Amino acid sequence: MDCYEVALSYTKEREQFGNPIASFQLVQQKLVSMVNDISQMQLLAIHIARLKDAGELDAPLVSMFKMNNVSKARGIAALAREVLGGNGVLLDYRVIEHMADIEGVYTYEGTNDVNTLIVGQAITGHRAFAPRPSAT
Ligand SMILES: Cc1cc2nc3c(=O)[nH]c(=O)nc-3n(C[C@H](O)[C@H](O)[C@H](O)COP(=O)(O)OP(=O)(O)OC[C@H]3O[C@@H](n4cnc5c(N)ncnc54)[C@H](O)[C@@H]3O)c2cc1C
Repeated sequence: MDCYEVALSYTKEREQFGNPIASFQLVQQKLVSMVNDISQMQLLAIHIARLKDAGELDAPLVSMFKMNNVSKARGIAALAREVLGGNGVLLDYRVIEHMADIEGVYTYEGTNDVNTLIVGQAITGHRAFAPRPSAT
């Protein structure tokens, strides 16, 4: 959310070709993509919290939730960095710091790959974590 808010505010102030970059269609597309993803992530978080309160949350659902929201957060941070142009790689605007933090979250408490395999096992019944032992 901070990546989106920083990017939105920056695009209203930064001018190129005599206009705020917020007025350019491609910049708006990125901002809309960010806020659209954030809205979906928040709804999913509320849904997951309600399932937890009702005692109906299981591990594959948690994996799917983590996979979805962290992947989207990663994409949002990358878009925000892009919208800030060269300033996006400076610590002054925090976005690059969030990007580094999200890379950590993408890996800890189940990498995206391993959470994918947990969901894959839940829906197929096949456990793909390790190759089958060779026949020889
Ligand atoms: C910021 C940060 C904080 C952390 N904090 C903690 C902590 O507090 N406590 C703690 O115990 N650990 C912590 N960790 C460690 C974290 O849990 C591990 O880094 C994570 O589980 C991945 O293990 P690994 O680094 O050994 O990578 P590996 O297991 O070597 O994985 C490397 C790559 O191979 C993929 N991979 C691995 N196995 C499979 C498979 N079967 N099929 C397909 N792909 C596979 C992974 O998805 C990954 O892309 C932290 C890590 C980070 C980055």
